[in-house]
Amino acid sequence: MSRQNSFRSFVFASFVILALTPGALAQIKAPTVEPKIINPGPVGGPPSDAIVLFGGKDLSQWQSLNGGEAKWLVKDGAIEVVGRTGDIVSKQDFGDMQLHIEWATPAEVKGTGQGRGNSGIFLQGRYEIQVLDSYDNQTYFHGQAGAVYKQYAPLVNASRKPGEWQTYDIVYHAPKFDESGGVVKKATVTVLHNGVLVQDNVEILGSTTNEEVQPVYTKHPPKAPIRLQDHGNPTRFRNIWVRPL
Ligand code: MG
Repeated sequence: MSRQNSFRSFVFASFVILALTPGALAQIKAPTVEPKIINPGPVGGPPSDAIVLFGGKDLSQWQSLNGGEAKWLVKDGAIEVVGRTGDIVSKQDFGDMQLHIEWATPAEVKGTGQGRGNSGIFLQGRYEIQVLDSYDNQTYFHGQAGAVYKQYAPLVNASRKPGEWQTYDIVYHAPKFDESGGVVKKATVTVLHNGVLVQDNVEILGSTTNEEVQPVYTKHPPKAPIRLQDHGNPTRFRNIWVRPL
């Protein structure tokens, strides 16, 4: 057999083998839609397709949980919790989302445990990712910074010192309910604290509660506001943006 003929035979045999192997090549389908081009912006964002909830100027995207204007301070490009004015909530509702938020606990350390720089980010107003000064500050593990409060401790303690800016990057998928209010798919959350993975796609057990009871789900709309907690400490926030998923 000539060299050319043997090559032809090889190619033919290869096709026969592939043709006799159902599905061998059929499984991979190249995507036909080009990923949308966005501008990622500076380090820390916001990217061009994000909804900015606080860009350093005002609380126009927020209101008081109790209704009316948000009563927290805007100072030096950051929001500061004003104790006993109540939680604030985003005016806009969100379901599945990527959330970036930066926070700093007070540089002047006061209090211990849960009383030091406590605040929180309640996804859909219900599921708290704890904000706390957890730098050299003992508390129960599922109550420290990066915890899904009273449900999951963070994988590691990646806290910076009091007064220093810290980041949360959160990927959240909302729960799904059936018509009778039963949960058919629990919410999931991934959290990076200062760029470090602290919650790895965990299933949220139900609405955050401070009681020592099993959390439960209560049916809620597919989209709901983000809530920031007034726990009486002057914790600060800045650079808050969301990308609905
Ligand atoms: Mg809290």
